[in-house]
Amino acid sequence: YAEIPEHTAIYDGEDDIVVGRILGEGFFGEVHEGVYKKRTRVAIKTCKDCSGDVKEKFLSEADLMKNLDHPHIVRLIGVIEFDPVWIVMELYEHGELGNYLVEQQYILSIARLTQYCLQICNALAYLEGLNMVHRDIAVRNILVASAECVKLGDFGLSRYVDDQEYYKASVSRLPIKWMAPESINFRRFTSASDVWMFGVCVWEIFSMAQQPFSWLENGQVINLLESGTRLGKPQKCPPTIYSLLTRCWSYEPHSRPTFRDLVLSFRCKLTNPPIC
Ligand code: ADP
Repeated sequence: YAEIPEHTAIYDGEDDIVVGRILGEGFFGEVHEGVYKKRTRVAIKTCKDCSGDVKEKFLSEADLMKNLDHPHIVRLIGVIEFDPVWIVMELYEHGELGNYLVEQQYILSIARLTQYCLQICNALAYLEGLNMVHRDIAVRNILVASAECVKLGDFGLSRYVDDQEYYKASVSRLPIKWMAPESINFRRFTSASDVWMFGVCVWEIFSMAQQPFSWLENGQVINLLESGTRLGKPQKCPPTIYSLLTRCWSYEPHSRPTFRDLVLSFRCKLTNPPIC
């Protein structure tokens, strides 16, 4: 469909949404800022060529998000299923954590960075309890609501694992440098592979959004991991947190801590660093 003109009101009266400027480019189309019911500021995900399969894939993210309710997960407000097809979410005006870390790098304290890690860890422990794997945990997929609060977003790759025990991926658009060895080798995704990815995400947070393995091609990563090499300690990362990361990067999935374990560790590091 044609571009959405600025300030288009859809629906009359109480249900109107007014569309504003473009916030960014999503996989399916532009993401706009907007206002819902004259009060709530929202982000509107649009879908460019939204028919059949594309529409189904686009809306599958909203379908998963519908059932989620957590203070550190992006909140879905609603979906418009017919022309234009939109996903409407709460707006987080500071945008992606990756950019925020670069902009605020001289201001953010270690305690603040640890707090962000704990918040995302809490969100992931919640997903772990629902048997959901996120599969794309990275600072580009975390949004900043305020200086004290970050939210995990982008459920485009998320899946319920339910009875199957693990989700076997078929898509090729995967974030190799964040992935656990069994995900790269066998496309095997579990909460334990999410723990590995969370470790890489914590590494990104403490390195103020540097690219993991920036010196490697995607195809070279698995050999390096198989040889036992891991990402090094970012300068700002406290040694006790780095030692947690190395456990998240255990080769064997069952040797990694769970998110429930990690929440306890991060909470302790935030409240009482000398003893843990
Ligand atoms: P996709 O997952 O379809 O690629 P993203 O979720 O990455 O799309 O969204 C694209 C961009 O839109 C993001 O980089 C971010 O800057 C912006 N964005 C998305 N959702 C929100 C939101 N809820 N609040 C603020 N900005 C958002």
